[in-house]
Amino acid sequence: MATQFPRTVATQKNMKILIIEDETKTGDYLRQGLSEAGFTTDLQRNGADGLHAALTAEHDLIVLDVMLPGLSGWQVLESLRGAGRDVPVLFLTARDQVEDRVRGLELGADDYLVKPFAFSELLARVRTLLRRGRAGSEPTVLGLAGLELDLLRRRVTRDGQRIDLTAKEFALLELLLRRQGEVLPRSLIASQVWDMNFDSDTNVIDVAVRRLRAKVDEPFGQRLIRTVRGMGYVLEAPGD
Ligand code: CA
Repeated sequence: MATQFPRTVATQKNMKILIIEDETKTGDYLRQGLSEAGFTTDLQRNGADGLHAALTAEHDLIVLDVMLPGLSGWQVLESLRGAGRDVPVLFLTARDQVEDRVRGLELGADDYLVKPFAFSELLARVRTLLRRGRAGSEPTVLGLAGLELDLLRRRVTRDGQRIDLTAKEFALLELLLRRQGEVLPRSLIASQVWDMNFDSDTNVIDVAVRRLRAKVDEPFGQRLIRTVRGMGYVLEAPGD
């Protein structure tokens, strides 16, 4: 029997980026790259759908192409700011023209990139904007008992020792740390980390947790990730 928990159970989320880009190749490339970097992505391929997504869902950042069919990137940006949305916007322009950049910044964009760009450059800008956006609001380092997860540098250490995680393992650990002390059902983990619903009999979550433990717990001789039989997983300091 599949146990379905409503999506609203999830109050914490991974950082979510909306990509508005009509060129198939660029859009797919951005979506793949940002997903691999650990972000949840939402790709919209025209201005109208992009604006709708931006107005109806919460995003931590928007990557916005300027040259879009129908509604241009400028119109999207203007409508967004007009509606009082202050989500950081990084716009992409194919035209290396000063007027274009000035216009974008005047309309309320936060940064821009001229196409073609290296993905590493885009990722650096995205992280800078996210850091600026959360300055003073949310902590950027999560931790428990010597375990530290740096959201901006995408780094995990335990007792000062660097731990290499895959993007999914990182997202899983981020979720466990954000909600430390809470027993998280597998279905919630599935919806938050994999962005989909799993039947409770799949072992995808268990395998991922086992791999994460092998990296985060086992070498350090102190177990932080605990299995709660029939319920799910909890991250907590021993003795809690
Ligand atoms: Ca375009």
